[in-house]
Parts: sequence; structure tokens; C-alpha cells
Amino acid sequence: MTETVAGRPVVDGVGIIPGFVNSYTLRSGEETYLIDTGFSRKAPKIVRAFEEAKLPLDRVGKVLLTHHHIDHMGGAAYLVASTRAALACHDEDAPFVDGRVRPPMPLLMRLFMRVHPAPVAVRLKEGDRVGPLVVLHVPGHTPGEVAFYDAAEKTLFSGDSVVEHEGHLSIPAAKYASNLEQAVQSLERLRALDVEVLLPGHGVPVSRNVAALLDDLIRRAPADYLHRPAK
Ligand SMILES: [Zn+2]
Ligand SMILES: [Zn+2]
Repeated sequence: MTETVAGRPVVDGVGIIPGFVNSYTLRSGEETYLIDTGFSRKAPKIVRAFEEAKLPLDRVGKVLLTHHHIDHMGGAAYLVASTRAALACHDEDAPFVDGRVRPPMPLLMRLFMRVHPAPVAVRLKEGDRVGPLVVLHVPGHTPGEVAFYDAAEKTLFSGDSVVEHEGHLSIPAAKYASNLEQAVQSLERLRALDVEVLLPGHGVPVSRNVAALLDDLIRRAPADYLHRPAK
């Protein structure tokens, strides 16, 4: 039987709450996980998705962040408080999430965005298991960027390590990257996985030709991202 999920069902046990940043809900037995919250203003939409699915919000056991950027973690403080879930992110991004270190941001973002620090209860590292998910450290977009891989379902929650845009895969612009060379290297890591459904932080889920689209990105990436002539 297909389990009820909060958000629009994408694959068995997984719901998407779309937005500028996609949030995903994952049900595994009695446990529910929320992956990325979006900006703080998206929190009511997430609460509503649980209400509409008639799932109590306090079912969420963990809020998993792919990385520390405000558009992915802005609602974490509110949602952790209202769910009593444990907030988890990679060890290297934790100081930016919990507010001990001010996150690096392009000037415009810094002027217009308020950071909402949130207490990190679980510091993830490469190879950790969270329910059916394994944590893959894929740095470059941020030092502690992670992807969450469900090997049994062949689904990959890629955050911003790889995103979808108009039918193609890409990586976010250089100005948001902590180390672009690393970000390009991390793509090889993702390509080595057996992925049927890619669930990116931005864009729409990709359920066809994931490997071919990743190959295409890996072919283009060095020229597109690393060797641009200076303007
Ligand atoms: Zn990001
Ligand atoms: Zn993003």
C-alpha cells in the first residue's frame, strides 16, 4: 500500500513541497524526515502540507539540511521548535546554521535577508545513516554540502550539489560556491551512484535519463564553470 505523505507524492514514501527551494518529506515506517525547509516564509506552507495529509507535524523526527544556505535552512528554527525534531546537517556547515559563524553571502543577499540561526542537534558526516538514507559529503557549493541517497529506492536528494533547470542539470552559479573546483569534482561522486530519481534542491524532480544528464553536465562543467575567460 502506498503510504500517505505530506506534500505532492513523487515516489513511494516521498512528497515534495515545491518552492524556490524544494522541501521533501520522506516516510520510513513510523519515522518521517523533512529535507530542507526553504526560507522562513515557507514554513506555513510546510505545516499546511502536513495538515492536508492529516499527518501530525510532530511525526517529523529529523529535519535534514543539505547545506547552510538561508534559502534551504531559513525555516529550520521555526520547524524544529514546532516539531521537536532534531536538526541535522554536516559538521562543516553546522557553525553557519547555528549562528556561531556568520554565513558568507553575496552582498545583496546580506542586505535583504535575515538569518534565522537554528540549533544543530546532529552533526552529520560522510557515510552516516539516517533511516534509509546514507549521507554523502559532496562539498564545493558549501564546505559541508551533503546529498542523501536511498540505495534501495535509487533516489537521490541532491540539494544544491546538482540542480535541475529547464530539463538540464547544472550546478549553482560560481558566486554562491565555496570551491567551484570541488563542486565539479563532487559531480563524479554522484555519477557513480545508481540513481533512478533525482530530487534536486532547485528545479523539478528528474526521473528519466539521470545518468545521461549527469554525464552531459560533467562533460560541460569544466568549460562552463572553471575556465570562463575573465570579463
Ligand atoms: Zn545553496
Ligand atoms: Zn539553493
